Amino acid sequence: MEDTKRDIRALTKEELRSFFEANGDKAFRGNQVYEWLWNKGLHRFEDMTNLPKATREMLEAHFAINHIKVDVMQRSDDGTIKNAVRLHDGLLVESVLIPTENRTTACVSSQVGCSLNCSFCATARLKRMRNLLPDEIFDQVKVIDDQSKMFFGRPLSNIVFMGMGEPLMNYNNVLKAIDKITSEEGLGMSAKRITVSTSGVPKLIKKMADDGVKFKLAVSLHSAIDEVRTSIMPFNTQFPLSELREALSHWYQKTKNRITYEYVVWKGINDQKKDVDALIKFCKFAPSKVNLIEYNPIDDGNFQQAAAESLTMYQTMLEDAGITVTVRRSRGKDIDAACGQLANKAAKE
Ligand code: SAH
Repeated sequence: MEDTKRDIRALTKEELRSFFEANGDKAFRGNQVYEWLWNKGLHRFEDMTNLPKATREMLEAHFAINHIKVDVMQRSDDGTIKNAVRLHDGLLVESVLIPTENRTTACVSSQVGCSLNCSFCATARLKRMRNLLPDEIFDQVKVIDDQSKMFFGRPLSNIVFMGMGEPLMNYNNVLKAIDKITSEEGLGMSAKRITVSTSGVPKLIKKMADDGVKFKLAVSLHSAIDEVRTSIMPFNTQFPLSELREALSHWYQKTKNRITYEYVVWKGINDQKKDVDALIKFCKFAPSKVNLIEYNPIDDGNFQQAAAESLTMYQTMLEDAGITVTVRRSRGKDIDAACGQLANKAAKE
């Protein structure tokens, strides 16, 4: 059966070269295949026209090329595109293209479902089924790069790991995908244009810093008070704010990169002065930016966007404390493509 064949894109260039040598062929064939797979994005061995027919058949017999497939593409009134992406084993994830005047941002998934249980997020309702493989993450980016060229006449400019899943819970594959995205053989994108968003796993934030990664970090904070954060992000009991802060401080010492906090203000949950005070105190240790995200309703009304005055209070107090604040408007809400709304709805209908 095809699915039992090894995915050839799990092999490094060196491994491909060794494979050919071990099979009595020349190592440079490995480079040729690698180029077809990554630079040209081929889906079929038979299209690798600079290889002899026998070689193509030999590859076919040994390997599969497990490309993702866009099942449904939805376009929002505001230009946002959401892709329901089918994986080789039939599972689904979603990825989103967000166009602005001079940027195209890809929002990609890192896991099928999610193991965290943030009570305001639609993805949390899907069980975590598995981690995405590096090439499944890469493919989402490639698809959006192609869509950007086709619909907007320009390549993709930025990538955010803010789709389904917790990227740090799939650390190795996310890093491998980013390597491929930034390498010349892949898409040659600058790591500075990539943001990994995490709900905050302290140990792995430290590891990232020690591994010398070059991309940016965003942390979904939502509250700097432990009791409040635990009530909406229950895993906070395992990784309390003090540990998160210590890990972020380590990140800053190593990378000297500003930290972005994602933050939704909800009515009756975190919309008081004491919440802003705690936030200011929490992020003082390093230059930081707070991104106030509009709440995208996902259900029955347990959560409601805070009043405009609360947002103004956050903005004023943060600015007075010397912290950069931005307010992020939702995009693609009409097609459930906005933050926290990714839940494979279209595919279910
Ligand atoms: N697991 C990662 C990345 C996915 S979520 C993380 O937690 O950062 C991307 C962002 O959307 C996070 O900041 C998340 O807190 C936010 N989010 C989740 N549900 C939301 C909702 N209903 N409305 C607005 N933002 C939401």
